[in-house]
Amino acid sequence: MSERSTLGEFLRDVLLGAGVFAAGGAAYGVVEALTNTAQGLYLPLSGWVLAVAVYAVLGLLAGLGAGVVAFVWRRIAVLPRAEVGPLLGALFLGGLVFVYVGIPLNTRALPDLVSVRGLIGNGIFAAVCAVLTVVFYLFLDSRRAPGWFGTFVALTLWVSALLAVGDHVDTFVHPISLSASGLLPFLGIVAVCAVLYVVTLWAVRALASGSTGRAAPIAVLAVIVLVVAGLVLRLHAGGEGTSAPPPAGKPNVVWLVMDTTRADHLSVYGYPKPTSPTLEQVAKDGAVFDRAHSESSWTIPGHFVMVTGRYDAAREKLLGEEFTTAAELFRDQGYETGAVLANMALGRGSGFEQGFDVAVDGPVRIFYQQAFERIPVIRALIALGIAPPDAVLRRFHQKTFLQNEAVRAENVNQWAVDWIDDRDPDRPFFLFINYMDPHDSYDPPAEFREKFAAGADPVLGFQRYSRKLGGTISSNSFVRDISSQFDEKTWSEMVGLYDGEVAYLDAQIGKLLEALKERGLADDTIVVITADHGELLGEHGLANHFKALTEEETHIPLLMRYPGKIPAGTRIATPSQLRDILPTILELAAISPAPPMDGRSLVALLEGREEDVGDGESYGFLHRPADKKFDFTQSGHLLGIRTDEAQYVWSSTGKHEFYDLKADPQARQNLHGSGQPDEAQMAQRLEQWRSETGFSDFGGKQKVDRLMKDKLKALGYAN
Ligand SMILES: [Zn+2]
Repeated sequence: MSERSTLGEFLRDVLLGAGVFAAGGAAYGVVEALTNTAQGLYLPLSGWVLAVAVYAVLGLLAGLGAGVVAFVWRRIAVLPRAEVGPLLGALFLGGLVFVYVGIPLNTRALPDLVSVRGLIGNGIFAAVCAVLTVVFYLFLDSRRAPGWFGTFVALTLWVSALLAVGDHVDTFVHPISLSASGLLPFLGIVAVCAVLYVVTLWAVRALASGSTGRAAPIAVLAVIVLVVAGLVLRLHAGGEGTSAPPPAGKPNVVWLVMDTTRADHLSVYGYPKPTSPTLEQVAKDGAVFDRAHSESSWTIPGHFVMVTGRYDAAREKLLGEEFTTAAELFRDQGYETGAVLANMALGRGSGFEQGFDVAVDGPVRIFYQQAFERIPVIRALIALGIAPPDAVLRRFHQKTFLQNEAVRAENVNQWAVDWIDDRDPDRPFFLFINYMDPHDSYDPPAEFREKFAAGADPVLGFQRYSRKLGGTISSNSFVRDISSQFDEKTWSEMVGLYDGEVAYLDAQIGKLLEALKERGLADDTIVVITADHGELLGEHGLANHFKALTEEETHIPLLMRYPGKIPAGTRIATPSQLRDILPTILELAAISPAPPMDGRSLVALLEGREEDVGDGESYGFLHRPADKKFDFTQSGHLLGIRTDEAQYVWSSTGKHEFYDLKADPQARQNLHGSGQPDEAQMAQRLEQWRSETGFSDFGGKQKVDRLMKDKLKALGYAN
């Protein structure tokens, strides 16, 4: 009899533990889903369901263990049964704080766990959480059955909100630090959450006691609080808001960036493989700039210069508010502005989002951080190096890099088309899309892999992310250790995979243009298609980009279509660069005045008012940290000038380069210092450009924050 009742008590405690922790987990999951959405992160319904379900199940499992603890505790400390529930609730809350705060505390403020400082720091933090657990217990116990459970759920909701909002503010607004100004915002958040907790509990009690008369004013108050909070957030996010209604007849603008697409691998630029049937059609309807170059060889400067028309914007890793972007200019004209940014380097916190009413922030980041890394339990396991199970990790890993579902062009398009359909039909729109497909990994969908890389091992395209090689490796390590060993066949398969990605993206751009046509928007829309930079595929012994200022990295596509304004079938031979795009579309859309820009409008060329002489200079720059380990690539900060005849590249390390492109079109032989008459002349022109454009102090410090550093690391732009 006694054994039986002991077993009964044990089961009751364990099941109570599972129930309490599952409820707490679900409450936390709801808060996370809500706060992610409030932060403007794209979280589909499946993500919401997943978040809540994952936390509920994790809570349930942890709760079984907590139930055992409660049972043992009850035996040892003679805890009355009525106090088991409050104890379990307190254990959940203390554990939530421990896991949520413990991880960032360890990664940011403490050294290795197994070190004197690490152990002392974690010991103190564990003691703080234990005290907190006791406080929670005393608090919940004072509201013993039947009131403790409702109190527990309300408390979990607001403790979760406190942690989530605190995390958001810490990451994006104001980092926590041990100073009055560093702690003040967080004390404010604590106060607000405490007040809202009291209001919630009051409302729950009032509703539970059936006195709806008392609950009604509370509900009204809650709605007012939510509306005010929403307005404040909206004002905070949207800045000045939209201005006066637009004059009728303004064209829409659709600006598409094919991240990492080199012009010479597009059939519209003469590539023998049929990689760009869509762009060929765009060329027939509009204009192609045959000699378009990026100002640099990586994402950030390429994008910053194109949306501001200014060199100085492209010198920083964060786009400052002092710069006026294309999205801001169009929004000020009454346009509705939206962006889908598949490259996470352009996401929230980069400054690139300024001016957009809606900007979908790097689905890669969302996929990783929201669905995976933000699960505190999994973060804790990763930090401890013991989990998650390899099978789970590989699944996520493969999904991201082999199938890349989150950033595939078709998913990007889906979001873009939904946005087009949801907007105000009486206002023109400005839509900016960054597609990531051609960027490595090169993992085209099966259909395109078959067509361009039949027989190639698909794993070849994502070696940089291979777990066999120890997970993600930097692009520099890839060049030094892996791609340098490739034979000709391997390179040709690699190129096939890259071409497959380019062709897939071209097909998807075709679908987006088709969607515009179906909606009757095609003729009233200026379409710009370009790339932020190109890609090296073995040339000069290099791979990827961000390596130098080579033709492979900087010669990019530039096409424009605007029926009625841009004559069909136009091809322009005169050099153009990314900074010219914004002044061009402003003139096409008859928008003026514009802030000062380094770029120039190409409309006169397009309309034949200016002679297409096919002659001119292009300039480039590459600003990056010195990396002595990789001396195979050009070192230091680079500035370059290029004409049809020659290229000169200045390096801050003194290893300058000069190529005679007429005799050596592939730029294989560096003739620097061999007394070429053109070199001195080009060096002088570059020097002049440098002083005119504010690059005199090139090589100075750049602004970069913690979040940006992490992103750049993930993309291979930082070590
Ligand atoms: Zn890029």
